[in-house]
Amino acid sequence: MDKVREPARKLAGLVPYDPKYLPARAMMSANENPKDVDEDLRRQVESAVRRVPLNRYPDPLANELRDLIACANGLDREQVLVGNGGDELLFNTALAWGGPGRTFLNLPPTFSVYEANARLTNTDVLNIPRLREQDFAIDEAAVLDAVSGPDSQVDFTIIATPNNPTGLRARTEFLGELLASTDALVVADEAYFEFSRQTMRPYLDANKNLVILRTFSKAFSLAGVRVGYILGHPDVIRQYMKVRQPYSVDAVSQAIGRVIFQNRAAFEPGIEAIIEERERILKELSAMPGVHPYPSDANWVLFEVPEAEQVWQRLFDAGVLVRDFSTAAGLEGTLRVSVGTKEQDDLFLDELKKARGIS
Ligand SMILES: *Cc1c(COP(=O)(O)O)cnc(C)c1O
Repeated sequence: MDKVREPARKLAGLVPYDPKYLPARAMMSANENPKDVDEDLRRQVESAVRRVPLNRYPDPLANELRDLIACANGLDREQVLVGNGGDELLFNTALAWGGPGRTFLNLPPTFSVYEANARLTNTDVLNIPRLREQDFAIDEAAVLDAVSGPDSQVDFTIIATPNNPTGLRARTEFLGELLASTDALVVADEAYFEFSRQTMRPYLDANKNLVILRTFSKAFSLAGVRVGYILGHPDVIRQYMKVRQPYSVDAVSQAIGRVIFQNRAAFEPGIEAIIEERERILKELSAMPGVHPYPSDANWVLFEVPEAEQVWQRLFDAGVLVRDFSTAAGLEGTLRVSVGTKEQDDLFLDELKKARGIS
């Protein structure tokens, strides 16, 4: 046949996710840790990988890794689920809590994967935009209003804290209030909590409707391996188990994840350095005429700059890849730079000054 039937109707208007990842001297576009796993840890990773039976299916639930994560968070195994990156668990959230006739509350601009997953699962999306004039703070009153009351349609929400790509974390007290005013599932996406040093973990015991999502991809230098996890009530975790792909987390990733998690303290100095560099970048950007950085609790800085698209190109031509949000809804005129090594940050700042005609 020289033709094929139309795919599912929900695919109309969807575009495949494109991280716009181009090779560059300074990769500062994907919020990764600029430092790869060091030599010593890498040797431990290699010997762990060497012991993995490749002919056998992995433990579907990654129980050994689950136990390590549970123990570190003062929880039981039943309160933890490991996924193929946080992204798989975000998709599973839409599979388990979304669907036709169900509603997802989204707070754009935010991680675009949330809304894409809602569309893929035919979930209705209720958008409550963040307040750009207040550094993209959540419209707290509007959110509380939308979820409370007996006729609220909201079945689940996902709140990135800190919010990617804008930068600020949500107020803990607000999230607490939200959890208390609705039985909708509230996923606190803490992909960057190692940089904000804030977690909703203390709220877990009293709130069955709270799920905390985390990843090994950012602070722990493991974006290439695909390991993330959620913390939640055992009944909620069981619902997630119904929709997940049985062998989504392969045995090699499980083995690497265990080594990295057991050695997570080794990443602390690097995290500290990233936080210091973030503050330096913020300060330098604030001093550049015409450039407006937004405050950040994470490992990147979003900033407004005149002619952002041309500036992106100038930076790229000079070997610096940042993320272009200049034409994204609600983010017009902005670029996002992920904090790099000191050398990369210097290169970025120098090239931005040149692009702005500052010397
Ligand atoms: C990076 C990121 C994740 C998870 O990424 P994975 O690599 O799939 O673990 C989740 N949420 C946000 C907001 C992110 O930026």
